Amino acid sequence: MITISDYTFNDYYNEIKKNVKITEVFERLGLKIYKRGKYYKTLCPFHKETNPSLVIYKESYHCFGCNAHGDIFTVISQIKGYSFYDTVAWLEGEFPYIKSYKPKEKKALVKPVNAFDIAFNCYSNMSDKEKLGLEYFANNRKYDSRYLQDAEIFYVTGNKLLKYTEDNIEMKQVLLEKKLLKEKVVDYDETKSERSFLQDTFINDRVVITLRDYNNSIVGFAGRAIKDEPKYLFTQDLQKNNLLYRLNVVKEKCKNDEEEVCELYLTEGIFDALRLEFNGFYAVSVLGSQITKDQVKILDTFIKDMTRNKKGAFL
Ligand SMILES: [Zn+2]
Repeated sequence: MITISDYTFNDYYNEIKKNVKITEVFERLGLKIYKRGKYYKTLCPFHKETNPSLVIYKESYHCFGCNAHGDIFTVISQIKGYSFYDTVAWLEGEFPYIKSYKPKEKKALVKPVNAFDIAFNCYSNMSDKEKLGLEYFANNRKYDSRYLQDAEIFYVTGNKLLKYTEDNIEMKQVLLEKKLLKEKVVDYDETKSERSFLQDTFINDRVVITLRDYNNSIVGFAGRAIKDEPKYLFTQDLQKNNLLYRLNVVKEKCKNDEEEVCELYLTEGIFDALRLEFNGFYAVSVLGSQITKDQVKILDTFIKDMTRNKKGAFL
């Protein structure tokens, strides 16, 4: 039983889900609903078709033509191109009665959340088993696991984000938008009742590397496989061409370096750069086999910043 003060925005999102009929949302989005036996169907807005193959369940929908799958929040955000918060605002406009469930702003605990921050908090809080996994990985490669942890590298076991966000609709939607969680369709057929098929994008055990840009903001993660291929997975929409791994760290260290000139090594892979860094050198990696124009521009900015700081830097 929840008391008023415990009532959060997440409860509000659950109330919206319970109180707004998903068929009505489809209609407000301009889609015609057909009743077929026990089910409601509509022409799928996500692929071209003449016979409706998108089935609408109580709280979710599934397209048997293109596997599109989701709930009231995802259908709006995908058709309208809205963020989760814009989606909620649209729902409040279309169905004003839901606002009576809204928590008082003053008491609300929740402010807009960032997907990468959620993931970082989740990944960095390693279980004992995960700490052992990281130690094993580090020892095999002659690193110190504490050093890797300081470099924001973590061992992550399967579906950790999904478990971490459990019933938190807001966090889940935000993670879905950034594709840190994804929908997986398994054994889905019309005779079965709705089920959730969410899973982590970094499925199975992985060593997860936090990727920060020159300004020290998290821009994504790389997941290095322990056993499976492909060896590396990157979070979706990561601008690899626009990133020099560890330059944010090098920048800070260089600023405080007493030497007149700092030498910077440029490497191909994440762990090549870390190896050099581990041995006291300044090193960054390109996350690929060649350097791009954008990366050269970033290096240029870096050199200018350092020179302004009365230091020189060369490659
Ligand atoms: Zn479809």
